[in-house]
Amino acid sequence: MYNVNEVRSDFPILSRQVNGKPLVYLDNGASAQKPQVVIDAITQAYSMEYSNVHRGLHYLSNVATEKYEGVRAIVKRFLNAASEDEVIFNSGTTEAINLVSYAWAAPRLQAGDEIVLSVMEHHANIVPWHFLRERQGGVLKWVKCDANGDLDPQAVLDAIGPRTRLVAVTHMSNVLGTVVDVAAICRGAREKGVPVLVDGSQAAVHIPVDVQAIGCDFYVMTGHKLYGPSGSGAIYVRAKRQAEMRPFIGGGDMIREVSLDAITWNDPPMKFEAGTPSIVSQIAFGVALEYMMGLGMANIAAHERELRDYAQARLSGLNFLNIQGNSKNKGAIFSFTLARQAHAHDISTILDKRGIAVRAGTHCAMPLMKHMGLGATCRASFGLYNTKAEVDALVSALELVNELFNA
Ligand code: PLP
Repeated sequence: MYNVNEVRSDFPILSRQVNGKPLVYLDNGASAQKPQVVIDAITQAYSMEYSNVHRGLHYLSNVATEKYEGVRAIVKRFLNAASEDEVIFNSGTTEAINLVSYAWAAPRLQAGDEIVLSVMEHHANIVPWHFLRERQGGVLKWVKCDANGDLDPQAVLDAIGPRTRLVAVTHMSNVLGTVVDVAAICRGAREKGVPVLVDGSQAAVHIPVDVQAIGCDFYVMTGHKLYGPSGSGAIYVRAKRQAEMRPFIGGGDMIREVSLDAITWNDPPMKFEAGTPSIVSQIAFGVALEYMMGLGMANIAAHERELRDYAQARLSGLNFLNIQGNSKNKGAIFSFTLARQAHAHDISTILDKRGIAVRAGTHCAMPLMKHMGLGATCRASFGLYNTKAEVDALVSALELVNELFNA
């Protein structure tokens, strides 16, 4: 049984006040808070178990290496990858997508070759492809979502042509919360021989992910949204695609031998992990994933579905609010504007005075905002520790905002 009050007591920051009010943290889409076990893991690693990894033969280096490398098996379990060698560590989604862009796509992209993207992508899944467009003459083919924020998998498949080299698509929109049927996209793309990168930065936080069932080639996720430290993360790369990748960043650890006139590379995944990594962050990332799996991803998803339904009902009762994106298949992420043209920054500042943290702006998704005809929105994004009482607090505060703008 999922007990949200017990879960909340695992997160020390949730008991603090902000601006004299109990903190209502609804900015999980940007970054999530950390449970005590993650904070303890960081303290333990730095106070008792710290050393560099892979290099030393001494006790502490072995302990740190074992803990650090142990995280691959945790990520494998979390994503149901076929092997832990398919897990490459990195600092998060942005680095992961740049890895795919430089290591896999760049060497095989000819001028005129296409990458298919949806307009719902976060800039992290847009800008690296623009780099390829600028440098190598790649063509970006955009697939639109409809007014509800739904992305038709068939529209993505229809955009694939003989020059398409990759489809790169989000699993869950960070603005609208829409969950995309990435399994259908991967199935169809595979029939056409086109690999698929799935941006799981949001989805992996909220729903169980099985990369083998999805059938993707690349799946990225970012530690700080998964209740772990910033600077941690992992990408799943199907073994066949790893074999096709050149290294991206060069340096220590990713090599086997270096001489004055030649280098040979280490085996994957280390071939793609140059230099001293974020050792402690990555160890604590593993603890965060264990924490989530301990609660049960299906339980987390069920709790958040209930929150989503409750928030949907309460927020749509506010006739002065325009909720953006009404997909039937969405997570607990709500972007909204006020009918009275109040700027999103002003709304979020007033909410902040009531202790409520939301995000305001374009959410690193300018093409989507333009497509939806929006300047900026406020976004309330829920996590595993949020409650219906916090939805109520948000609704009361929005009523106050409306009164202030009506005055
Ligand atoms: N993709 C999506 C869907 C996101 O929501 C985010 C972060 O907001 C990112 C990518 C970028 O993640 P990071 O900044 O951790 O690299």
